[in-house]
Amino acid sequence: MNEYDSMRMIDTLRESHRLEITADLAAADVLILNTCSVREKAQDKVFSQLGRWRELKEQRPELIIGVGGCVASQEGRQILERAPYVDIIFGPQTLHRLPALIDETIRTRQPSVSIDFPEIEKFDNLPPPQIDNVSAYVSVMEGCSKYCTFCVVPYTRGEEFSRPFDDVVEEIVNLSEQGVREVTLLGQNVNGYRGRMHNGRIVDFALLLLYVSEIDGIDRIRYTTSHPFEFNDSLIEAYAELPKLVSHVHLPVQSGSDRILGAMKRQYTAAQYILLAKRLREKRPNISISSDFIVGFPGETDEDFAATMQLIEQVRFDQSFSFLYSARPGTPASTLSDDVPQQIKQRRLALLQARINELGRDISNRMIGTEQRILVDRPAKKNPSQLSGRTENNRVVNFDGPRGLMGRFVDVEITMALPNSLRGRYLGCESTVSNYLPPQKSILAKPSPIS
Ligand code: SAM
Repeated sequence: MNEYDSMRMIDTLRESHRLEITADLAAADVLILNTCSVREKAQDKVFSQLGRWRELKEQRPELIIGVGGCVASQEGRQILERAPYVDIIFGPQTLHRLPALIDETIRTRQPSVSIDFPEIEKFDNLPPPQIDNVSAYVSVMEGCSKYCTFCVVPYTRGEEFSRPFDDVVEEIVNLSEQGVREVTLLGQNVNGYRGRMHNGRIVDFALLLLYVSEIDGIDRIRYTTSHPFEFNDSLIEAYAELPKLVSHVHLPVQSGSDRILGAMKRQYTAAQYILLAKRLREKRPNISISSDFIVGFPGETDEDFAATMQLIEQVRFDQSFSFLYSARPGTPASTLSDDVPQQIKQRRLALLQARINELGRDISNRMIGTEQRILVDRPAKKNPSQLSGRTENNRVVNFDGPRGLMGRFVDVEITMALPNSLRGRYLGCESTVSNYLPPQKSILAKPSPIS
């Protein structure tokens, strides 16, 4: 989400002030730090980075320093107490005001602050995204109203709101006209999407997927991050009916203990999550499931952690983003005693990560000898004479092939599985790239939470 927001800042400043991105700090007129406050560590990094920029500002007082994102949203003017040389403070929902904030700070020579949550105004005021890749992010809903007890997001990004349906579809049509082949639909709880159509009808995420898969040129659809509570029957059915929807889902579970899930206010049990994974696999037997975990939530016992490890065995996750619990100011959980000793938290995290890495490696090894379709999106990192693309289940494949394959879907045979990537042998490139099959029946059903 932050990467997406950063790209929108670049788009807007390119249009308003003809600013271009530079890797050379000394050449920059404006420095912007887009921040995350989901864990304390990310928040701490903000002030160390600002400390490094202070000297530049002393040398060049006309340099404009901005802080955006969730730390800006949470701390507001207080940032100026620790870093008085910051000129602009803006939140995730006010990034479209960046041009006006820059003008204001130049005019008044005072810091400008704008951290409210004006909802849809942002999208009405941002220029259309400029894309130079075959893969693009599209924000479909913003904010979060789940209020999980550990999470700061509702307080920094505001309440959940969905972008109008037609606006999202139009944006993706425009992207496809710029050559985009793969879209990743974004939202904090993206499957909680409830968008208004031009006729006033409110529709769910599965219907949005159906429309997106009808757009010519868009051949692969991903989304992140979905919430298990919002995973309704129509979305499960979409895996049977929409071949453009990749065989990978990122579905944060956080814990396998019902007691902890209840204390986190996640609104599902471990058994409901396991059932959901099973139903998805019935529709897409090869679907790979990745997840987020928090270890060491207040009161987490050895039994609770064992339940998480048991859930991992049952679901057989492919990848994880897993974190030590970090108390965030203003969240309900921050009033609980952070009572799991650091050493135990770290040991549990290491066990969990080791097991999920093992499961992921098994999946990679089983891919050896299979044919995979990848979207070629860049030269390989380590050996730029090779090409690189991603499989449906989000693995990087590096292979030897002609440059002309850049931006195209190609088939490769997987020849080797390395810890962070796969090697492949080029088999062929689609002449007509679309593998789209029209849906046979409507997937629109009344949204219902998992039961
Ligand atoms: N909306 C998604 C959900 O909860 O289903 C995830 C959004 S959150 C920005 C990304 C991940 O950060 C969460 O899934 C969680 O694992 C982690 N996270 C959030 N708050 C945390 C905290 N206080 N301590 C540790 N990890 C945290």
